[in-house]
Amino acid sequence: MAQPTHTPNCPCCARVSRRKFLGAAAATAAAVGVVDTIAGPAAAQTAAPARPAPAPGRPILLKGGTVLTMDRAMGDFERADVLIVNGKIGAVRPNIAAPDAEVISAANTIVMPGFVDTHHHLWQGILRNLGPDMTLADYMRDINNTAGSVYKPEDMHAANLVSALGTLSNGTTCVLDWSQSQNTPEHSDASIAGLRESGTRAVFGYGFPVRGTPKYWEDPGNQYPGDLRRIAKKYFSSSDQLLTLAIAPSVVPTEQAVDCWKVAREVGCRISTHIGSAPGQLEPLGKMGLLGPDTTYIHVRRTSDVEWKYILDTGGTISIAPYVEMIMGHSTPVLQACLDRGVRPSLSVDVETTVPGDMFTMMRTALSIQRELIFQRQRAGEKDVPKLLTARDVLEFATVEGARANGLEKKCGTLTPGKDADIIMLRTDRLNVMPFNNAVGAVVQSMDTSNVDTVFVAGKMVKRNGRMVGVDLARVQRIAEKARDGVLARGKLTPKKV
Ligand SMILES: [Zn+2]
Repeated sequence: MAQPTHTPNCPCCARVSRRKFLGAAAATAAAVGVVDTIAGPAAAQTAAPARPAPAPGRPILLKGGTVLTMDRAMGDFERADVLIVNGKIGAVRPNIAAPDAEVISAANTIVMPGFVDTHHHLWQGILRNLGPDMTLADYMRDINNTAGSVYKPEDMHAANLVSALGTLSNGTTCVLDWSQSQNTPEHSDASIAGLRESGTRAVFGYGFPVRGTPKYWEDPGNQYPGDLRRIAKKYFSSSDQLLTLAIAPSVVPTEQAVDCWKVAREVGCRISTHIGSAPGQLEPLGKMGLLGPDTTYIHVRRTSDVEWKYILDTGGTISIAPYVEMIMGHSTPVLQACLDRGVRPSLSVDVETTVPGDMFTMMRTALSIQRELIFQRQRAGEKDVPKLLTARDVLEFATVEGARANGLEKKCGTLTPGKDADIIMLRTDRLNVMPFNNAVGAVVQSMDTSNVDTVFVAGKMVKRNGRMVGVDLARVQRIAEKARDGVLARGKLTPKKV
């Protein structure tokens, strides 16, 4: 579907703008609010202190940015304003008159929805970069099994806090926290506390315990997955909050998977699961009729045609972690397998022990592998090869498709009026992108986390002028280092600093 691109002199914008302006003008005729120009490159380099966040309850007007709405019907704007009212997107168009609003200049920025990550083991945030050369087998041994079995609740809190803050700072405003090592109810409470404290929008993926035995269900102290009922009641009784709930089980053994699927349906939460460590593992659940549109399948490697059919027939969503899958040896990311089947996948980070926590990397990796595989087929003489992915495709995967896979497409993923204001502002007056020529090209091909200037979650400003708002970084570093030291010592893991 072709989508509109609105220019400053666009007739359709002028028409809409005038109609809405007349309505707004009748309501109030006061002067425009405070103008706060975002600090430019020079100010950022001298580390100017972050300005205070706007007063709660007051509308915010992001004025004069290049706007990628990621809503295909709305299209993009070469220059427009974005109005935030009561934490939601009120309007997107040029020349919005909002006399009561606090005005923030969006000049020299791209304004777009925050990224959405559909699978990220935040609990490993304190072990970042520990295994730059790890294979999947190394990771399973040292991180998943060894470290996972010695985490204390306070370690889960510290890791979730530092990693969730990191994702926010990177421009990701919604993340599915795939949290295995839920070894006790206290681990779950602490994990949720870390997410809450960070201020991010997150799906807490309640994962299986790692208690030093591969068969957690035979452990007399095991409370998985039954404790999901308590968690749902205690923390997720309202759908009108930043945190939502999922269960994050394994598909094997089937008997334990069935328990997880049943408890999830009982409490009404989504399901997120890794599949494809061996083909056919999903088939028993499919035969039992347990699969549904509430489930996201991660990696989808070594997946049989029968399993694919179950996923497609039941409307499941896909999460691909392209960088991890290639660098750790999972498999070739199944982007083309998805596209051949008419599925638009979402993207995910997976583990920060080996890869970075940002979505810029994931978009570029996804784009490059799909295109290279198509080019290979062309070079081999194949005719009528599938289409090359575009930069806009992967930008959609990292926003709107992520929101869909996280079950939050009504809340985030596009700048559609009525959705929550999960918005990022990316600087275009930086040496890695100037002079600014093309918004999608800049975001996907050249920008990185250094361009993330301002971040809103549900209209609340969590990053401004390139700095996190209200975060005591020294404290976060202190508790993260303390937790890391404890985990490494108890797990007898001795990584080298250099
Ligand atoms: Zn994973």
